[in-house]
Amino acid sequence: MKKSFNRFLNLLLIAAVILGAAFTNPLPVTAANPDKMEVHFIDVGQGDATLITCGGHAMLIDAGDDTKGTAIQNYLKKRNIKTLDYLVLTHPDADHIGGAPVIITKFDIDKVFVSNYEKDTKTYQKLIQALDDKRLSYTTPEVGSQYSLGTATVTILGPNEEYDNPNDASVACLVQNGNNRFLFTGDAGEDAEKDILNNGLNISADVYKVGHHGSRYSTSKAFFDAVKPSYAVISCSEDNSYGHPHAETLNTLRTNGVKVYRTDEAGTIVATSDGKKITFNVPASDTWQSGEQTQNSSTSKTTDSAAELQEAPKEEVSASTPTGITYVLNKNTHKFHKPSCSSVDTIKPKNREDTTMSRDEIIGAGYVPCKRCNP
Ligand SMILES: [Zn+2]
Ligand SMILES: [Zn+2]
Repeated sequence: MKKSFNRFLNLLLIAAVILGAAFTNPLPVTAANPDKMEVHFIDVGQGDATLITCGGHAMLIDAGDDTKGTAIQNYLKKRNIKTLDYLVLTHPDADHIGGAPVIITKFDIDKVFVSNYEKDTKTYQKLIQALDDKRLSYTTPEVGSQYSLGTATVTILGPNEEYDNPNDASVACLVQNGNNRFLFTGDAGEDAEKDILNNGLNISADVYKVGHHGSRYSTSKAFFDAVKPSYAVISCSEDNSYGHPHAETLNTLRTNGVKVYRTDEAGTIVATSDGKKITFNVPASDTWQSGEQTQNSSTSKTTDSAAELQEAPKEEVSASTPTGITYVLNKNTHKFHKPSCSSVDTIKPKNREDTTMSRDEIIGAGYVPCKRCNP
């Protein structure tokens, strides 16, 4: 009796180990016969819009500014795309979400992924309105979670917490087809890159869509070294007011022998992966020309948050007892949430405070309600 019970326990243990291995294995399962995957870096001027297709499936990462929605719609239509498996809106800056309402209105979309940063702008409100009108739910994907796109696997790398600027809060992901790996980090800056690195997920990639249009505040050395790309793609417009791409970023790419492709020079760029090798539809750039000589910061209409211009308010709030928690505060962003809000899990411990204060007291202390959980 005892013996058979022990055997039963052993079997249970073995089953648990097998199941555990199946569910905790961080490496994406690569398909034996990968489909052709195409990554279209659509020329949307200053902004981002990347279409990824694989075996009849499609994903769009960002949708340019509000003048580009129809152009992206036509680009997708020409390729006979009627449904998007995924629409990823990396962060709520206008050069990434402006064109999204058109796409949301015109296409069937299975899953919408958004940043955990809500922005108080008309462009952001229009996006939420379009999602609501279509009765589409949207979530911030969990870091480490994986989604399939045909034979390709999408692994979420960020955002790793709530940040005080939209760029750092970008949804970052790695798309792998066979052995070919593509990395997308939106406009994530150095702080967010550090958090992605600290997470320990493998971020090495063949193709790196250069963070924040080639800004010097992204592509930090440690991050670049971990990615070690062979190819880099920069999405920006000619003569943009930010001076993108910055010379520092181009130098990093150049000194490491990375082949660079730029939408400001080549227009739309298409990279094709067969799972083993990657080919581009245009030759690599050889100009190494930064955008800085055309910088004109005083007259430009700012559609992109420059993290460097924002200083986070850093006042302390009074501590309170942990019993009977009413709300959760983020001392960094000065937002407050219902304890059940999905954003709460992404607050860094040092920024988080569980409070028993009333709603009025919290607002009196300078906090604003989260737009997602409406506390
Ligand atoms: Zn941007
Ligand atoms: Zn941005």
